[in-house]
Order: sequence, then structure tokens, then C-alpha cells
Amino acid sequence: MSNIHQSGWRPTSPEAGESATGTFTGNRALMLEEALIFEIGSTETTGVEVAEPAKVASRLGGLARSAPIGLPGLSEPEAVRHYTRLSRQNYAIDLGLFPLGSCTMKHNPRLNEKMARLPGFADVHPLQPVDTVQGAFEVIHQLAHWLVTLTGMHSVAMSPKAGAHGELCGILAIKAALEAKGEGQRKVILVPESAHGTNPATAAFAGYSVEDIPATADGRVDVAALKARLGPDVAGVMITNPNTCGLFEREMRTISDAVHAVGGYVYCDGANFNAIVGRVRPGDLGVDAMHINLHKTFSTPHGGGGPGAGPVVFSEALTPFAPLPFVEKQGDHFALVEEETAGEHHGKSFGRMVAFNGQMGMFTRALTYILSHGADGLRQVAEDSVLNANYVLRSLENTLDAPFAGSGPCMHEAIFSDEGLPEGFSTIDIAKGLIDEGYHPMTMYFPLVVHGAMLVEPTETESKAALDQFIGALRSVAERAKAGDESLRSAPHFAPRRRLDETLAARKPVLVWKDPELAQAAE
Ligand SMILES: *Cc1c(COP(=O)(O)O)cnc(C)c1O
Repeated sequence: MSNIHQSGWRPTSPEAGESATGTFTGNRALMLEEALIFEIGSTETTGVEVAEPAKVASRLGGLARSAPIGLPGLSEPEAVRHYTRLSRQNYAIDLGLFPLGSCTMKHNPRLNEKMARLPGFADVHPLQPVDTVQGAFEVIHQLAHWLVTLTGMHSVAMSPKAGAHGELCGILAIKAALEAKGEGQRKVILVPESAHGTNPATAAFAGYSVEDIPATADGRVDVAALKARLGPDVAGVMITNPNTCGLFEREMRTISDAVHAVGGYVYCDGANFNAIVGRVRPGDLGVDAMHINLHKTFSTPHGGGGPGAGPVVFSEALTPFAPLPFVEKQGDHFALVEEETAGEHHGKSFGRMVAFNGQMGMFTRALTYILSHGADGLRQVAEDSVLNANYVLRSLENTLDAPFAGSGPCMHEAIFSDEGLPEGFSTIDIAKGLIDEGYHPMTMYFPLVVHGAMLVEPTETESKAALDQFIGALRSVAERAKAGDESLRSAPHFAPRRRLDETLAARKPVLVWKDPELAQAAE
């Protein structure tokens, strides 16, 4: 074992692709280098002390491990330092503006956290007797009520655990409804070109073939092309509204009517609900099913893998097919409906999405958020998120190409393209330059309908001062690109790591650590 195992740090080696920092440790003041846990840990170190097991007869039937397991051992302070150092290399909404488009990275109010940590919510178990979790059920029931009210829909399935999971839930309900009508031959789902990747993936996963609907030059669904494609083989459409170009689909009602007229269903991707909450009810637009990302619109924390929550609201037509279980108020009591009851409104459920009831912690946070904002506050969320995005759009439209700036205001996100950047410079250089300015990059190269897209969603929780600083940073980076500043092409320069070969990393990911000494010995 080499000496780095005990040290907790590793001198920066220029050969390893890192530029020398000039310090002995590789640290730069408070920016601390951190090696892989395998390089820090040694099999001789451990954070726990357990007595040697008494001699017992092996019951492993000859399957006992003969070689060391090779897991790194760390003492408790080493383990704490390792993960704390790594955590400091993360960007977070608690550190600064997080412009990632379509993700609605807004501030997570601390009141939400306080409520979610109340022992009566935080410590409940899904297998507890129903009588002992009435308060938790009341939270689920109240949140369900507000989601149905805000969307103008008929019912809601609370159990799906994220947006994409909600999409699957909605499409499975559509499938069940079609099969109940004897129309299982409908095998095509139409999806606009600008759709989030999860939409076609969901439709394909549920056994449908996906066909693209083109966009018009102003960034919206080409309604004529959509109508021309409708027919007896079409199960439905999946449309994001506001769409991923940051624009409201003004023809949504026309689209829904046309789809219904040929016997199909309308799925709306509601991930962008933040822009219209309190102002537009998707139920009024003819939507049959829509997921709501509680972790976007309703401020429950996300990024770094969740947990999210993706309740799905349903029209009256799809309600009988919604998944189980759900919470129902029966007199003073909240009951958990877990099985189909023939003739009831949930009599034709397609089944379950999850083992239990969904993400209790996220429900508590989302309901706290809704109640603390109230009707006027939620409406202001939508208005301010749209105002902030338009401020970004208008502040930068003369610096970066803004393909839809001419078609009027945007919704909650502003989109730019790489048009007009000099030869050799593209969106990625701007994104990497932003890292040096201390920002997480915006969503890039998505949606695909905009060349070199940069999708910026500031959200309503940013102040004008915060927006001005971000706009200044983005303008400065864009101007460096336009002036052909070569240093931008190797940015970031101030981040813990330099620019990576992202194609290589995606195509040939190195997912398993190999001990270099063992690898050398094997040669
Ligand atoms: C975030 C998002 C999704 C997927 O939601 P997850 O909760 O990440 O699964 C789907 N569509 C759009 C437009 C989104 O922004």
C-alpha cells in the first residue's frame, strides 16, 4: 500500500491532467483537494472496533470469501472530512442562483423543512395502523385537494415518485382507458420535437411508438401538422405547456379538442407549471392527465438525485383508471383505499405505481408551501417567475442570439442560441466560463429545436440584484466568446477540475476503481 493511503490528500500531479496549483497540498486556500476514497482509505483502518468473532462453524458452504474485500477503511474523522470536502465542491441553490432551465431550481423555504421534520410526519411508517397516521393522511388529502383545485382537474394520484414516473402513470391510465373501450389498437403517441426526453421514453416504455410533431418557426407546436397526423391509430399526445422553448402553447384548447374528436387523450407534461400556477388551470385546456413536479413548482428540494414527487392529476374520463392506493375522507376519518371497488369512481384502476403511498416528506413540504403562499402568493409565484425570465431575456438579447425574442414575452425561461459566436466557440464554452464566474451552467443543447440552446430559468426567488449579477456574468462570458478569447475554450480555470473530455466520459465511463499497484502487478 502506498503512502497516500494515510494522508487524506494527494499532491496535484500535472500528468493526471490537473494544472499545478503551486501549493504543496494541491489545496488553494479554502478550496481543498480531495482524493478518491479508495486512495485515502486503507484496509487496515476502520471507524469501528469490533471484537474478533468467536470461533463458529462456517455455514457458508464453501462460499466464504478467500481474498480481501478491498473496501477502503476510514476512521470516523477521515470519513467525515472526506464527505465534507466533497460536499464543498458542489454547487447548490443555497449558494447562488441556479439557472438550470426546465428544472425550476428555486429557494426551498426553511418553513417547509421545519414542518417535514415534525416527528408525527418524519417518523411515520407506511405499515402503521391507519388509525395512528390520521394526521399524515390528512396532509395527503389536503395536498390532493389543492393540486386538483389549482389544476382544475377531477382527481389526483399522489403516489408517483417523480415527473417521469408521473408520465408513466398518466400514460398507463390512458392505455387502460383505451383498452376498456376496446381500442387497444391505438399504438401511436405524438410528441412535439421540443419535448423533454422523458416524454418519448415514457411512451416507448409503455409500449407505444412515438412520432414527432414539428414546431413552427415561433417555437410552438405546428397545429396543422398535428391535426393532419391524427387518426384511429393515435392513442394520444404528450405536450409540455409552457413548452421547453419557454413559450405558452396558445393553441392548447384547439389541440385537445382535435385529439378528443378522434378518440385520443391529451397528456400534458406539467413540469413547467411554475410559470402558470394560480393563473391557468390545465383542466380548462382539455388536458386528461398531467404530472406536477412537487420538487419544482412546490419548492421541495431536488438535485443530487431527489427524492422528488410527481403526483398526476386526471380528467373525469381518466379518473376510474387512476392507480391505487389513495386517501379518501369518510366522515371524520381518513381511509386508505387500496383495492378496486366495482362501480366506484376508481373501479377500473390500472394497478399501483409504488409499494406504499408516495413521498410523505415531500407532501408535507409542498402543502406547507401552498398554505404559506395562499392563492395570491401562488399567483405571484407565476407572475414573478415570468417577469424574472423576461428581464434576463431582454437584458441579454443584444448580447446573445435569442431565437424567439421577436415572438413576444417568454414564460418562465429565456432561451438563447450559439448563433453569431465566432468559429470554434460554442455553447459549451459559455457554460464552462460561467463555472469560473461561480454559477452552475444553464441547461445547454436542449431543447434540440434550437441550435446550441442555452435555456435559463431564473425562478421567482431571485432578487433583482442577484439577476443583475448573473446577467453581468453571462454577458461578460458571451462577450469574451464573441471577441475570440482563446482562454475560454479551456475554461473552467478556477474550478476543482479543468475541462473534461465529456464525450469520452459519456462513451467510456470509468465506473470501477482499480488499485494502480494491483493493476501494475498484473501487467
Ligand atoms: C424535470 C422535467 C421532467 C422530468 O421530471 P423528473 O422529476 O426529473 O422525473 C419532465 N419534463 C420536463 C419538461 C421537465 O422539466
